[in-house]
Amino acid sequence: MKHTDIKNVLFNADMVGSNVVVCGWVRTFRDSAQVAFLELSDGSSFQKLQVVIDKNALQFDPECTKLGASVAVKGTVVKAYKGTGNELNAAEIALLGKCPPEYPIQKKRTTLEFLRGIPHLRLRTNTFAAVFRVRSVAAQAVHRYFHERGYYYINAPLITASDCEGAGEMFRVTTRPWNAVAKTEEEYYKNDFFGVKAGLSVSGQLEGEVAATALGKIYTFGPSFRAENSNTTRHLAEFWHIEPEIAFAELPDVIEIAEDMLKYLIRALLEECPDELKFFDSFVEKGLIEKLEHVAGSDFAVCSYTEAIEILKKENARFQFPVEWGSDLQSEHEKYLTEAVFKRPVFVTDYPKEIKSFYMKQNADGRTVAATDLLVPGIGEIIGGSEREADLNKLVAAMSERGMDMNAYRQYLDLRRFGSVPHGGFGLGFERFVMYCTGIENIRDVTLFPRSVKNIM
Ligand code: ATP
Ligand code: MN
Repeated sequence: MKHTDIKNVLFNADMVGSNVVVCGWVRTFRDSAQVAFLELSDGSSFQKLQVVIDKNALQFDPECTKLGASVAVKGTVVKAYKGTGNELNAAEIALLGKCPPEYPIQKKRTTLEFLRGIPHLRLRTNTFAAVFRVRSVAAQAVHRYFHERGYYYINAPLITASDCEGAGEMFRVTTRPWNAVAKTEEEYYKNDFFGVKAGLSVSGQLEGEVAATALGKIYTFGPSFRAENSNTTRHLAEFWHIEPEIAFAELPDVIEIAEDMLKYLIRALLEECPDELKFFDSFVEKGLIEKLEHVAGSDFAVCSYTEAIEILKKENARFQFPVEWGSDLQSEHEKYLTEAVFKRPVFVTDYPKEIKSFYMKQNADGRTVAATDLLVPGIGEIIGGSEREADLNKLVAAMSERGMDMNAYRQYLDLRRFGSVPHGGFGLGFERFVMYCTGIENIRDVTLFPRSVKNIM
């Protein structure tokens, strides 16, 4: 159907006087003796288009005025009687699809939790439509950022035989029947689709390293899967993961790139989504825009893990899990550091090797690795990164300490055997970034169909 996006009708002064067709869903209807007003949304903009109906001149189906109904309106664009932008004087209104009164998205403010129960309809609310417009703009900006800087976009496999961290949190991929029997694990997988144990990838990093050690600078942007049993507001079983990997980059380079990328993405949102951010600022997180402007314009903090532990130890009384050197940082510690101590994003660096992955570069102190997590107020970790161990012998030693199967990592080790180079990268959880920029506190509310423990609607 030939029609014009509401966004173009609303804000384009050249449109005044022209005849257009717009299509959309009815968001409000106001009636008076002579005129009636329909507010239409078609998803193209945060603002809705006001359609003015001269009741003496125009006949229309009353179904066209029902909340949630979809209509096509032919009319003339005029300057808005009130406020800025344009509105539409209707000449013809056609019903596309009627919407009965049991439509669950009613005008009274409904809770995010209620809307979670109707993921297929919740995008018709201001909040969710705004979240997904922001998410789309952010995704485009990610590609633009890397493309403009000469990174290649790599698609890492989602089905994999290696589990990236040696951690047991991978979903299995199998075609064997539910009641398949086997005497050993090996026998079970031998008869499976791939002939070996396979699963959904938790990270594209290892394949990213393959690409970076030939192409120089690459990034992946795709889904990662984690079968973690943690029912938090920050974890999903399926999330989108941005993972740049850069040859010849050491830890300080990785930190610089992560900070630069985040600032670029935030600036893109400030420029391209002003209405959405204003809305979140008013209704979701007071001061959001100021926060984002500040973050985009000032330096992030950097602090070593050892320094962080010194700071946290003094506050151990306030924590559920008191820390000492060697402890993994829990969410409560991460939040305390970034919210109470640094009051801005902070890179924590050089963690004890025991609590980090095998592939991270071992520091000269023999105790820590060149890793960094970026912590932000309100969320905690949004980025995990590191310089990778480029020394074959050190890598092999770290893997044997962890009892890993070298055979499964032959290709990965080859990267150190044949022309090894220093390199590094990081992973940004895309949903966590969207949470940070919208103020939305539950990761389920920035994801179209969130998957988490016992939840796959
Ligand atoms: P966390 O400690 O928060 O569980 P992690 O250390 O396991 O995260 P990494 O393996 O470092 O996470 O992954 C890189 C980034 O991917 C994280 O910083 C985070 O932004 C994101 N991420 C990791 N796991 C999840 C998840 N289950 N759901 C959503 N995002 C995630
Ligand atoms: Mn991490």
